[in-house]
Amino acid sequence: MKNKNSDLFFKNIRKDFPILDQKINGHQLIYSDNGATTQKPIKVIDSICDFYKNDNSNVHRGIHTLSERATDMYENVRIKVANFINSNKEEIVFTYGTTSSFNILAKGIEDQISEGDEIVLSQMEHHANIVCWQELAKKRGAILKFIPINKDFRLDLKEAEKIITQKTKIVAISHISNVLGTITPAKKICSIAHKYGAYFVLDCAQSIVHMKVDVKEIDCDFIAFSSHKMFGPTGVGVLYGKSNLLEKLKPSIFGGDMIYEVSFTCSTYNKSPYKFEAGTPNIEGVIGFGAAIDYLNEIGMDNIELREKELCEYFLGKVSEVKDLKIYGPNSCNDRSCIFSFNIDGIHSHDMSTLLDMKGIAIRGGHHCAMPLHTLLELPSTSRISLCFYNTFEEIDKIVLALKNAKKDYEKGEFLLK
Ligand code: PLP
Repeated sequence: MKNKNSDLFFKNIRKDFPILDQKINGHQLIYSDNGATTQKPIKVIDSICDFYKNDNSNVHRGIHTLSERATDMYENVRIKVANFINSNKEEIVFTYGTTSSFNILAKGIEDQISEGDEIVLSQMEHHANIVCWQELAKKRGAILKFIPINKDFRLDLKEAEKIITQKTKIVAISHISNVLGTITPAKKICSIAHKYGAYFVLDCAQSIVHMKVDVKEIDCDFIAFSSHKMFGPTGVGVLYGKSNLLEKLKPSIFGGDMIYEVSFTCSTYNKSPYKFEAGTPNIEGVIGFGAAIDYLNEIGMDNIELREKELCEYFLGKVSEVKDLKIYGPNSCNDRSCIFSFNIDGIHSHDMSTLLDMKGIAIRGGHHCAMPLHTLLELPSTSRISLCFYNTFEEIDKIVLALKNAKKDYEKGEFLLK
């Protein structure tokens, strides 16, 4: 199909995702938990099976044909990832996911941080971009500061200008909040960080699948993201770092493949990115990740952005008809994505998840690994609907209808039978 931004194109695309074609509790599945993980197109699934059927071997260590082939395939994905974010292949470290990328970064940067140095995060961060910095701060006597959010659920830029100072060594924020859906002004905050010589780190776990991320355009020093949130397999992620900065970073996982030379007394390390990739990596995962990137490129990130903006506008319009429902996040689709956290008065998010699951609708309830943000908003938890391009307007209608009936269904107590 030529017109890759038509509704029909995106409806047809659902055929690429076999898992979507099933009933849950007697209803057609509506998968709207894409912020947690996305479903996998058949091309990704096949690429992993094909690798095991035809090419399976270890990488970087064999001289035989299969090993060379597997190495080529693995390294080729590094180039695909680099092109996808407009970087060089030497700047792509394969990790096990965003969390592992942050841990490698925070550990590797440790000896560049001294007592009294400041690390600036925001109030809307995922635990993956909080806890590793807390550990680093504890070890080195550094101080954590947080850019506040304003009443519209956006980052307060004026406060950011005050909080980031000469003392700041690292500014690490999410590109899209996994709770609020807010798209943060990454380029602006990056330029403030750089004004003071601080590193700018961007958590792209949520943004990488919804918008074009160009590390050069933003001028990021480091970014992190996971394959499983962009239609690829679990257990694979990326730490991007500017070449000269990766060289300065210390490895924290030691063993085979990350070394240059080893004696009984000491070792020297391989160059970046290999010095961060000790041991046998998740080879089939990386191969599947490459297929996911091909898949996204075939559709086009521009088309995905357009489609999701339409879904976002449609959802916000429709959901405003639901009584007693409050959305926590910006009300304009210009700087938000299709991640909608909400509560309906009187219904706990876990009950809401169960109520919707009974109608075949998969959503998430809880604190979404952002406890500090929930504490700040004085909310024990929220329900979260996170859409992506394979969701449809008809699905949104069904979700909104289920939300409209939620109170009635809740009072009937039917969900307790589950
Ligand atoms: N950062 C954000 C914004 C996220 O949404 C997530 C996962 O939900 C992570 C980091 C952690 O990703 P992973 O669990 O794949 O390591």
